[in-house]
Amino acid sequence: MTIGTSENPLRVAIIGSGPSGFYAAEALFKSDLTVEVDMYDRLPTPYGLVRGGVAPDHQKIKSVTKVYDKIAENPNFRFYGNVDIGNDLSHDDLLNHYHQIIYAVGAQTDRRLDIPGEDLSGSHAATEFVAWYNGHPDYRELEFDLSQEAAIVVGVGNVAMDVARILARSHAELMETDIADYALEALNKSNIKKIYILGRRGPAQAAFTNPEIKELGEMEDAEIIVDPSEVALDELSQEYLANANDRAATRNVEIMTKYSEREPNTSKPKQIILRFLASPVEVIGTDRVEAVKIVKNELYKDNRGGLRPRATDQFETISAGLIFRSVGYRGVALAGVPFREDWGTIPNEMGRIIVLETKETVLGEYAVGWIKRGPSGIIGTNKPDSVETVQAMLEDAKAGKVLSPTSSKAEDVEGLLKSRNIQYVTYADWHILDQLERERGAEVGRMRLKFTRIEDMLTALAERKQKITH
Ligand code: NAP
Repeated sequence: MTIGTSENPLRVAIIGSGPSGFYAAEALFKSDLTVEVDMYDRLPTPYGLVRGGVAPDHQKIKSVTKVYDKIAENPNFRFYGNVDIGNDLSHDDLLNHYHQIIYAVGAQTDRRLDIPGEDLSGSHAATEFVAWYNGHPDYRELEFDLSQEAAIVVGVGNVAMDVARILARSHAELMETDIADYALEALNKSNIKKIYILGRRGPAQAAFTNPEIKELGEMEDAEIIVDPSEVALDELSQEYLANANDRAATRNVEIMTKYSEREPNTSKPKQIILRFLASPVEVIGTDRVEAVKIVKNELYKDNRGGLRPRATDQFETISAGLIFRSVGYRGVALAGVPFREDWGTIPNEMGRIIVLETKETVLGEYAVGWIKRGPSGIIGTNKPDSVETVQAMLEDAKAGKVLSPTSSKAEDVEGLLKSRNIQYVTYADWHILDQLERERGAEVGRMRLKFTRIEDMLTALAERKQKITH
């Protein structure tokens, strides 16, 4: 029987409900085939990094969820939140119920520095701090010793900017956000006065974008400190900026040069200190982080023309009780799915999953987003990325290259989940949770008070649903 008709819809499972998953659903619904999408998430809440990653003081970015809600309104869309693929449903269960499977699981862990002392208490992955302040249930119990006076953020990407900003924000500024209540309280008692940000290359190679570096210069409680020597460009960077037409980098350097020229406002209680050509080589401390030893780098051109950092023989020690590694996210392997350990991604060609060694295509399985291409780009980058994968999927579906599920009815999946006692959360349930979070927020003068425990979400949801039916 032809697949993709109203009698026999193309049934697709999307694992993960972040931006790349939603953009894949959108592209599938725009196709000329009849497609049914079941989207799964391990958490009862959708949106992936838009809820758990995007900084709470960047609410405008978060408003993209309205687009996702619109996609979810399609009658052929179902959300199964609180379903852990690999535990609640196995890889085989997916193969038995769908024609095609998309992995949209993102990059769930962090990259390491691989230096001595990295695991001392007080040394953290920035990704964990981000998940903690955003109320991710898996990270809510983490503790960050904010009684320290100085913190070091390693890396100069946008995540480093987010971490520095959240550490530097005033209580009043954070009250205007949807930051988790326990993080708001902990940050209110924070003693941190100095936040160092270390780039291993120069200012022209910083990965952060213009709005982010501008924002650091406009903080209520924190002054940005850039020593003129830190933004002085070496010859290779000057040559690069003169020839590369890299507007973002040119503007970054202009903004930072302005910072280096302005008289520091000493009345602000906190300082954000930007440093370049500096790599940590050791985290120093006995029981916990006390300082970080850094080496001064210089740039050299590699054989592809890229500018790389190389250590000199000049060292320096910065006293700090906290260090956040913000050197990139990393994907995690899924049971039964090929994985590239060196890149932390699922090997694929245009989104079609392949076995790396043989280059053979894995029938019916696809990847989108960070698990497909690595942890790069902004939310919008995921749209064309997902469209590319969906094009490959539709081509395959039309050529009959799909899985042969033993049962391909939506009710069968629901039946399976029920038979296993899995308390799944639907999109309508999520709307109730969303409303409850806003109501809880309104009670304490905040825009939203997030639930940060899965049990609390399920209990509150059950109570509200009972009220609605009575
Ligand atoms: P990123 O942009 O790739 O930045 C990683 C930073 O870590 C770079 O400065 C990199 O320097 C540095 N780094 C890597 N390995 C290092 C090492 N061993 N020692 C010292 N430094 C090292 O990654 P990210 O900040 O995690 O962000 C991930 C993606 O999400 C990015 O595309 C980002 O733009 C996006 N994002 C966007 C927003 C926003 O739009 N507001 C917010 C958050 C994240 P090199 O350049 O020298 O490798």
